[in-house]
Amino acid sequence: MRLKKSNFIARLFKKGRPEAKTYDARDFELLREGFHHHAMQVVKVLQEAGFEAYIVGGGVRDQLLDLHPKDFDVATNARPEQVKKCFSRAIIIGRRFRLVHVFFSRYDFVEVATFRKEQAFLAKKLKTNLQKNGIVARDNAYGTLEEDAFRRDFTVNALYYDPLHQKIIDFNNGMTDLKHKVLRLIGKPTVRLQEDPVRILRALRISNKIGFAIDDATTQAIPKFIPLLKEIAGGRLFDEYQKLFLHGDSVRNFASLKQFGILPYLFPTLPQALKEERSVKMIQAALENTDARCQAGKTINPAFLIAVFLWHPLHVRMVSLQKKGSKREAYAKAVREILKEQTLVTNMPGHLVEFIEQTWMLQRALERRSIPKALHIVTHPRYRAAFDFLLLRSQVGEVKQDICDWWHKLYQMKSEDRAAFLGLPGKVDGNDTAQ
Ligand code: ATP
Ligand code: MG
Repeated sequence: MRLKKSNFIARLFKKGRPEAKTYDARDFELLREGFHHHAMQVVKVLQEAGFEAYIVGGGVRDQLLDLHPKDFDVATNARPEQVKKCFSRAIIIGRRFRLVHVFFSRYDFVEVATFRKEQAFLAKKLKTNLQKNGIVARDNAYGTLEEDAFRRDFTVNALYYDPLHQKIIDFNNGMTDLKHKVLRLIGKPTVRLQEDPVRILRALRISNKIGFAIDDATTQAIPKFIPLLKEIAGGRLFDEYQKLFLHGDSVRNFASLKQFGILPYLFPTLPQALKEERSVKMIQAALENTDARCQAGKTINPAFLIAVFLWHPLHVRMVSLQKKGSKREAYAKAVREILKEQTLVTNMPGHLVEFIEQTWMLQRALERRSIPKALHIVTHPRYRAAFDFLLLRSQVGEVKQDICDWWHKLYQMKSEDRAAFLGLPGKVDGNDTAQ
């Protein structure tokens, strides 16, 4: 009986679906050399063990577009436990769905996902795994290559590359969309966005990244499902924030999120920040700096931009709290409240919350150019971030430029010269004057 039911569902699933097209990868200059040898090795090991295995997702899409892929994901019919057994250094991770990370060094790994099927249809029929709002709660039913292809988000993200046989398998006309530069959701946009509203964020981010237009049906469907973003777990939204803002495209992504009215779903106080001209300029400058740093290959602290987004709202909150107590207390309370409210939406790790607190806390001391505290401040572990923040504030006229110049001079000089510069007797570093 069970078998019959699943056959019936499988037939319904298949109905109306196009047949797969297979392309010769060599016709698309998709050369094996372009793919990371670790991803190739993972595919080879899995195929030699008798499994199906392909490179899929953004890696194939970007490679076909001659962009630099961020990573290469592997999809296979092997179960996570079977994948793990094929490699000496592999771990199974994931709660929403289980994946395997195959390690080649401490930070270098290939993510391997077992083929899955979209559960929304099943969930609706059988009324399981579906939250009241229609979002799919669990998405971990294993499937075939074909089912895996239909559960992916965009047609250009569902191209399966077999590097050993030089084939590209395409179930969703992804190659045609790639040619016409269209980012199209697989299936009905209204269904796919309801199942997983994070696909809205992915649509904006990927279309900006690869310069594709989002197809009309998806664009029209987006506004209706934006409020569902409220239901997404804070950790997942923080991951999406990082993908949107820390990979060199933050200016464009911020503009798209603003245009669609999505910003408050990631940063509830941002609308308030965008009402003030100075704050708008500061945010814009911070986004531009972040993109420039990324393009120059410099490190970016994920919390710096959040500190900028929340800076103006912090002051509005402080002013309203100050009516009831001292300025110092109001400031400390405003910092706690604003950060707590933000972490409820985009749940960030504790060390990042601390980073923001310290960057903000150092601002007053920096502004005041306090001589007795200067040696301590300039050697503070958060000094660089706090100084960058001060520079941004001076860029929009919130702090005088000569204050920044003074700190810059102090920071640049040899530590043994600092005490004399400050007119202090013979102190050589900040530890002596620590508060
Ligand atoms: P990037 O260049 O940012 O890595 P990507 O498309 O590879 O882009 P990933 O987050 O690495 O994005 O996801 C890998 C693949 O997994 C996607 O290409 C897509 O096929 C699938 N995928 C990811 N998130 C979703 C989702 N929410 N719904 C359906 N499929 C998804
Ligand atoms: Mg990827």
